[in-house]
Amino acid sequence: MRKQIAAANWKMNLTLQQAEKLLDDIIAKPHELKQHQQVVFAVPFPYLQMAQQKIAGKQNVFIAAQNCYSKKSGAYTGEVSVEMLRSLGISYVIIGHSERREYFHESNELLADKVNICLENNITPIFCCGEPLNIREAGTQNEYVEKQLDESLFHLTGEQLQKIVIAYEPIWAIGTGKTATSAQAQEIQAHLRSVIKDEYNHVSDIIPILYGGSVKGSNAKELFSQPDVDGGLVGGASLNADEFVTIINSLK
Ligand code: PEP
Repeated sequence: MRKQIAAANWKMNLTLQQAEKLLDDIIAKPHELKQHQQVVFAVPFPYLQMAQQKIAGKQNVFIAAQNCYSKKSGAYTGEVSVEMLRSLGISYVIIGHSERREYFHESNELLADKVNICLENNITPIFCCGEPLNIREAGTQNEYVEKQLDESLFHLTGEQLQKIVIAYEPIWAIGTGKTATSAQAQEIQAHLRSVIKDEYNHVSDIIPILYGGSVKGSNAKELFSQPDVDGGLVGGASLNADEFVTIINSLK
């Protein structure tokens, strides 16, 4: 079975003390991960090392950064390199979250560079894509998201692409409480898989495609039950231990 992933995106929330307590609370609650299931915590940069220590020895639990820079090293004040993340033992990085695309003007081209440098350093990008509301209302979401994949991912070889996790996150559903229906999520995620199949053949069967956008304990099971929804990237609900554990327990 394809990897199924519950990924928490804490964004710019929590003090160090709150972050420690939240991780402790989640880890203490019962959830049994099957071999193909993973939990990922994308925590703010200053908490990466603390989080790595808390999950040490836990099977199938990983820490992610929420961003990285596209250059190897050098005079880029305030940026964090993939090599630095690797030296902490970080395994995943969220690339191209819609908040980074919108507030920090990250282009598909820049994101392609970030994907490349992650792969060069053996870090798995969780590559975010998704359309804004006006595109959904115009019914052109498939083309919009295809272009994001085409311009940031489709230069990769099949061997490289199979190391990627994709998160489909319709922007109109992020942090709005408005979730895509499971049918909407399944429809576009199946379409994305078919586009990948056209380019890369069987690699499309391997790549986990997560859904993100107001995933909660109450809707996770229904969303994750869809054949092309391989778990979720979760913002708001990942800040509540009970909610996030329910989401973990909803993985198929
Ligand atoms: C996200 O930040 O990726 C996200 C999906 O947020 P939320 O779950 O709060 O909509």
